[in-house]
Amino acid sequence: MSKRDYYEVLGLSKSASPEEIKKAYRKMALKYHPDKNPGDDDAEHKFKEAAEAYEVLSNPEKKQRYDQFGHAGVGGAAGGGFSGGGMSMEDIFENFGDIFGSAFGGGFGGFGGFSGFGGGRRGGRRTTKGSNLRVKVKLTLEEIAKGVNKKIKVNKYVPCDTCSGTGAKDGSSHTTCSTCRGSGQVTQVTNTFLGQMQTASTCPTCGGEGKVITNKCDKCYGEGIVKDTEVISLDIPAGVGEGMQMSVAGKGNAARRGGINGDLIVVIQEEKHKDLVRDGKDLIYNLFLTFPEAAMGTAVEIPTVEGRVKIKIDAGTQPGKILRLRGKGLPEVNGYGKGDLLVHINVWVPKKLSKEEQNMMEQLQDAENFKPNPSGAEKNIFERMKNFFE
Ligand SMILES: [Zn+2]
Ligand SMILES: [Zn+2]
Repeated sequence: MSKRDYYEVLGLSKSASPEEIKKAYRKMALKYHPDKNPGDDDAEHKFKEAAEAYEVLSNPEKKQRYDQFGHAGVGGAAGGGFSGGGMSMEDIFENFGDIFGSAFGGGFGGFGGFSGFGGGRRGGRRTTKGSNLRVKVKLTLEEIAKGVNKKIKVNKYVPCDTCSGTGAKDGSSHTTCSTCRGSGQVTQVTNTFLGQMQTASTCPTCGGEGKVITNKCDKCYGEGIVKDTEVISLDIPAGVGEGMQMSVAGKGNAARRGGINGDLIVVIQEEKHKDLVRDGKDLIYNLFLTFPEAAMGTAVEIPTVEGRVKIKIDAGTQPGKILRLRGKGLPEVNGYGKGDLLVHINVWVPKKLSKEEQNMMEQLQDAENFKPNPSGAEKNIFERMKNFFE
């Protein structure tokens, strides 16, 4: 399923200011709010889409990653078994306080009935959702270069096998809840600024399940879930970077008594490489040559993420020169293009000299070819370094 561009969702251009983003989201949220569009699935979809777009674009760090990497940079579908990190209605309303709080004075209360959302509103019983789990995964640059499959051990809640997740001792020890007569919700009428609204809230007796357990399972004490470890296989695409998040739907904690599993949020951590420094999709290697090597030319082996390669150093190579090895960097996370490996040439100047070395240096001191005579390109070295670090 392809996801719409977040700017497009909010009807904004990429240069929109934080204030414009906020305004556009408020407009969308009011227009597609479920209370104003009961039973309209398209409106609900647009409501969620706008909330997700706002969640990313209102956060400077996420916005930057999104601008750079697209949906993949903020936990969207990046292939390899990762699904989009969609938001639940609870998440959306949780964030509402910030954006509507001041406008309607009452914040949450202004809309009324938010807490009853989460399935109950559809007329069915409330479905519980397990909590999301966050795990950090450490990757080397070599792993990031190729993409990698990681098996990680996760401590989490899983359905109890004794009662098959029902929480009842013999699988049938339930009675219908007397408070809500099995519907899982209680209804009340409230006055809100959108008019009089009938709101359903979760039944306090059964927690929205519509039934109560009469005889609890001994193993899970009626919860339907127990702690266990699970080994989860993650296919991590090539090109990911520090702090990127991916969500694996349904691999988080199991919910109490047969709800929906939470998601597993995978946070990428990048291990420092001993020789290479990452700069986006490019890699930088600092090469130190001896003075004779730079003067006479040589061939040296340098490390890359795919093993060592030999490169030729021309005679008369100046310090500050940057050799660009095309395609020896990292792939883009969304699959197009590859960065380069930039070999930054340094020439090592001895910090101390033996008597013999001192004598040799003195002989070279006035030698004709040792007098500095930079050409245009070499004079511009500071210009190039400036561009390089920008
Ligand atoms: Zn059990
Ligand atoms: Zn009830």
